[in-house]
Amino acid sequence: MPDLPQAAAAFSYRGRLAPSPTGWLHIGHARTFWTAYQRCLAARGRLVLRNEDLDASRARPEYEQAMIEDLRWLGIRWDEGPDCVGASGPYAQSQREHRHRLAFERLRRDGWVYPCRCTRKDIQAAVAAPHPGDEEAIYPGFCRGLRIEEIGDVAPAWRFRVPEAQAVSFVDGGFGPQSFVAGRDFGDFVVWRKDDHPAYQLAVVVDDAEMGITEVVRGADLLLSTARQLLIYRALGLEPPAFYHCPLVLDDQGRRLAKRHDSLSIRTLRTAGRSPESIRG
Ligand code: GLU
Repeated sequence: MPDLPQAAAAFSYRGRLAPSPTGWLHIGHARTFWTAYQRCLAARGRLVLRNEDLDASRARPEYEQAMIEDLRWLGIRWDEGPDCVGASGPYAQSQREHRHRLAFERLRRDGWVYPCRCTRKDIQAAVAAPHPGDEEAIYPGFCRGLRIEEIGDVAPAWRFRVPEAQAVSFVDGGFGPQSFVAGRDFGDFVVWRKDDHPAYQLAVVVDDAEMGITEVVRGADLLLSTARQLLIYRALGLEPPAFYHCPLVLDDQGRRLAKRHDSLSIRTLRTAGRSPESIRG
């Protein structure tokens, strides 16, 4: 296993597992969470399980229960969060919205965000394909100059105004030096949703910072989001953690694992009699 990044080694280590209860965990998650667990053990740190249940339309209690069972079955143990005796919490993102809102109000007060009334369709019609591996199209900035008084009766989403042409660089523990250019590799992104709930990019920053996480271990599909999140850390005056991204597990046609790969879910493999060791290997 590679050495811990300097930043994480200098502090007492706090890692996290942050699954979303929107489907069964698959072997891609198993790989990432196993790595997170091993890195935390090697650093003699503490591991937090955070239930990322912000998307109320997709989160389901049976998936939440299953993710806890599957993680335990794989042999992963955590020190704080759901299923821990005396956990202080809350460790469910949906119960931390008041904290996310405070951060959002601060971004708003300091002029980092603007209201946007564009629909997904408006944006798709106007822009080129997203950056490879990222799901988000680059927002063309239609609402950049709008003030809330000019928005009309629609409930707006709020976007972070990225510093045009500025490079955001970091050294990833798994992939080495990374650099993305704001406005070219990613555009203004949503931090507060139209339905008046926090968006992932903001919630994850607030939670990682407030939970004292020193190293974020997650899948390589979030490398570009790390650049977005570093801008939020900076705007909020927060110290970012170290980052360690894990290679994605691909199916035999080279596609990223997703909910459609039921045959590769931990649940299915477990029912089929596979052992945790064979999956970890
Ligand atoms: N909850 C996110 C997911 O399951 C991961 C977020 C993160 O690790 O930052 O994809």
